[in-house]
Amino acid sequence: MRLGSGTFAACCVVIEVLGVALFLRGFFPAPVRSSSRTEHQAEPPAPEPSTGASSNWTKLPPPLFSKVVIMLIDALRDDFVFGSKGVKFMPYTTYLVEKGASHSFVAEAKPPTVTMPRIKALMTGSLPGFIDVVRNLNSPALLEDNVITQAKAAGKRMIFYGDETWVKLFPQHFVEYDGTTSFFVSDYTEVDDNVTRHLDKVLKRGDWDVLILHYLGLDHIGHISGPSSPLIGHKLSEMDNILMKIHTSLLSEERENLSPNLLVLCGDHGMSETGSHGASSMEEVNTPLILISSAFERKPGDIRHPKHVQQTDLAATLAIGLGLPIPENSVGSLLFPSIEGRPVREQLRFLHLNAVQLSKLLQENVPSYKKEPGFEQFKMAERLHGNWIRLYLEESTSEVLFNLGTKVRRQYLDALRTLSLSLSRQVAQYDIYSMLVGTVMVLEVLTLLLLSIPQALSSKAELEVPLWSPVFSLLFYLMFLVLSALHVIVCTSAESSCYFCGLSWLMAGGVMVLISALLCAVVSALAKMFASGKLLSKNPAHPNSRWSELDVVILLGTMGHVLSLGASSFIEEEHQTWYFLVNTLCLALCHEIYRNCFLGDDCEPRRCSHGERGFVNTAPALQDRSIGHDELEPHRASKSPTSLNTLRGWEKWMAMASPWVILTCCRLLRSLNQTGVQWAHRPDLGHWLTSSDHKAELSVLAALSLIMIFALVQRRCSLTSKVAMALGLLGVYCYRAAIGNVLFPWQRDSKDISKGLIEARFVHVFVLGILFTGTKDLLKSQVIAADFTIKTVGLWEIYSGLVLLAALLFRPHNLPVLVFSLLIQTIMTKFIWKPLRHDAAEITVMHYWFGQAFFYFQGNSNNIATVDISAGFVGLDTYVEVPAVFLTAFATFAGPVLWASHLVSFLSSETSSGSALSHACFCYALICSFPVSAYIILVTSLRYHLFIWSVFSPKLLYEGMHILITAAICVFFTAMDQTNTKS
Ligand SMILES: [Zn+2]
Ligand SMILES: [Zn+2]
Repeated sequence: MRLGSGTFAACCVVIEVLGVALFLRGFFPAPVRSSSRTEHQAEPPAPEPSTGASSNWTKLPPPLFSKVVIMLIDALRDDFVFGSKGVKFMPYTTYLVEKGASHSFVAEAKPPTVTMPRIKALMTGSLPGFIDVVRNLNSPALLEDNVITQAKAAGKRMIFYGDETWVKLFPQHFVEYDGTTSFFVSDYTEVDDNVTRHLDKVLKRGDWDVLILHYLGLDHIGHISGPSSPLIGHKLSEMDNILMKIHTSLLSEERENLSPNLLVLCGDHGMSETGSHGASSMEEVNTPLILISSAFERKPGDIRHPKHVQQTDLAATLAIGLGLPIPENSVGSLLFPSIEGRPVREQLRFLHLNAVQLSKLLQENVPSYKKEPGFEQFKMAERLHGNWIRLYLEESTSEVLFNLGTKVRRQYLDALRTLSLSLSRQVAQYDIYSMLVGTVMVLEVLTLLLLSIPQALSSKAELEVPLWSPVFSLLFYLMFLVLSALHVIVCTSAESSCYFCGLSWLMAGGVMVLISALLCAVVSALAKMFASGKLLSKNPAHPNSRWSELDVVILLGTMGHVLSLGASSFIEEEHQTWYFLVNTLCLALCHEIYRNCFLGDDCEPRRCSHGERGFVNTAPALQDRSIGHDELEPHRASKSPTSLNTLRGWEKWMAMASPWVILTCCRLLRSLNQTGVQWAHRPDLGHWLTSSDHKAELSVLAALSLIMIFALVQRRCSLTSKVAMALGLLGVYCYRAAIGNVLFPWQRDSKDISKGLIEARFVHVFVLGILFTGTKDLLKSQVIAADFTIKTVGLWEIYSGLVLLAALLFRPHNLPVLVFSLLIQTIMTKFIWKPLRHDAAEITVMHYWFGQAFFYFQGNSNNIATVDISAGFVGLDTYVEVPAVFLTAFATFAGPVLWASHLVSFLSSETSSGSALSHACFCYALICSFPVSAYIILVTSLRYHLFIWSVFSPKLLYEGMHILITAAICVFFTAMDQTNTKS
């Protein structure tokens, strides 16, 4: 089957999108979530079950403890308390564990064993999922139901000291707080002194219900010198003293109030033998959890081997202890020893509440919940519970009541354990199988793209896709059988839930067919290359293809960028990489121009072989070069043979100055928006402009920018579009004035601020109008085959429609980004790309690099928090999902999208043949899929990295979005390519 290289590349990217989607689905497993998010407050607690006589206990039971203190020691490993270190350095805690009124457990944390997800797990009882990353787009605050929010709603007064992550998660929940940053890992005394210094004062006061302390010092010591450092011992005894202080203070307070308090000592995660954490080794996962309260009975004898429980069990226990509803997404089960001392009726009531909550969660997340053993056990227990209540209300003999009570309790505890287990299985691990299948798809596509470079970039821009070749059919069927067998084995033996196994057989089979077919294609491409490689080596007449400096810069830059993705700091500051690459590109261009000007056109022979080589010259071109050189470079052949000499005097000077102008533009743009992490807080022009004192300056800048945009865009539009463009840009200014961002000259103050709905919709109409005119022109050029100019105009109109939409969505201080983008495109077109006659591949890469740089120039970063959500509301009255997502995505990726559509417009206006567009499409697909594939592998290998959730996962989401947009761009390219070949 013969395919154009553009079509081929578009198909490849579409398959790649499927692979990336599957990978993402496996990487971010679907969370176990309750669907009744908002109505939860209104929902009454489940009443006590009863048969016959009805119970009147429908309200939530009252709190068990009047005050709760949570002392969280970061990276507290279980053996630091229960092991020999604990005996040595934490005598008071050891005493409480062995002889005091306490219950101790080893709480298992789920990976990633990193602070923030662990705090969430402790307070929500749930495990993080993909939706949470997206849902928390603009606010790091925890929106999910949790103990802290419930306590606040119930009017509890809470105080917090310690790691500021808590303050970010619960911004408005604490009546008093002092957050310390964990940024300076080398400091392990001051972080803790900052917490302890408040302690005396707070413990004396009685005006709070919940006190949370998060000590970071131990974790920092772990990072500096590991778990066997002598510093650990010091820190542990310091913590022991603090625990003693809190405990004695709570005891003396109890003597006055006569109601019990609860002190919780826990860790968020442990530390490995090297002192770090994030992965799933025993040392990182196991943390101590000790509940201390005078409500508990003192137990004689020592407990050296505390029971293993889940970290998520704490949320349900705390909720019951504080008399609050259990967080609805909690997968944990109540720690039974903490209610053991209560009357049997209360015990059963608590267990019932927990079981109802878990079974509800199960019903909403597992379609076949009725077959789950936990659910059956729960129903059984509920029935028995009803019987027990009837006996209780009838005041039966105490022995019968006691025996039945014990039986119900055992039944409930079994049900809770089974329910909790099957719920945690849903989200516990990375879904490695789905990730693997996705990765294989992506890698096969990338290999195929790389192998087909020589063919795809040849003059014909066509390649043979050997999908139907009968020679490989045996391999194909074998492959398919092996994969299906593997699929069955993996899916029947898998313990945790797997998305790919959950797909229907038809879908899974389709993916298997795709993978086998791709593999066959790769093998046949390899075989073909091997064969022709032999052929080539016999042909000494092959012209040596020298690389230009520009190609070397492009190749090294691409490689360097991909390599840099392995380091978290390089991802956080990726904008620096792109700024560097773009500047280097400018210097390389500068070099080329100057050589061309002063040394004349000495590189003409080199140029001739250029079109065939493509941008990554991994293999020499295979075509026989004797056939038609002018066919190879159609757009070159149509021009005069010399390059810069064709320019008139002043134009030559302009060409020589242009790289410097572009460099200056980039420097100016750089100071507009500080981005990244390290220097994001530095003052920048954007902040200066958006401050309320500088509204006049912002207005002038916005007006000037809009005029500039019009001047740069209008020259190639038809008259109708020109008028529409002018009115649209005027509408943009009116919109910004209406929502109070900018002022009109006659306005002193913007008092009446509206949502600007009319103005924004006015602009939307013009955007659609311009896009429509462009499409109409394109279609017309199809019908009237000879008319080439109409097509150029149509493409440019589509491009200018997108520019207008970007102008509407960008915040006013970002309008200069758009102006400079247009300016650089104009300069490059006029003085660099046209006279120097770069080939399609080089021009494509340059467009891609500038597109990436502009992504960061507009203030984006690899952190999800920089996504400008407000763009999704422009012209919309309320939140409507589809347009809001589209507008936000467009505003975020405006840089890459605008540069890509400029590329289409440029190439089809400069060349009369279709091969340039095909080449460009192929190169674009390749250069986008290369980093994505590399990043997927990197992320898989780094999945237990400390920064996986804070740095690598957001970047992964950006990459996923990027490949989706690339697919759209490639499909657009191919569509344009088709019209080209037809016309
Ligand atoms: Zn931590
Ligand atoms: Zn740490």
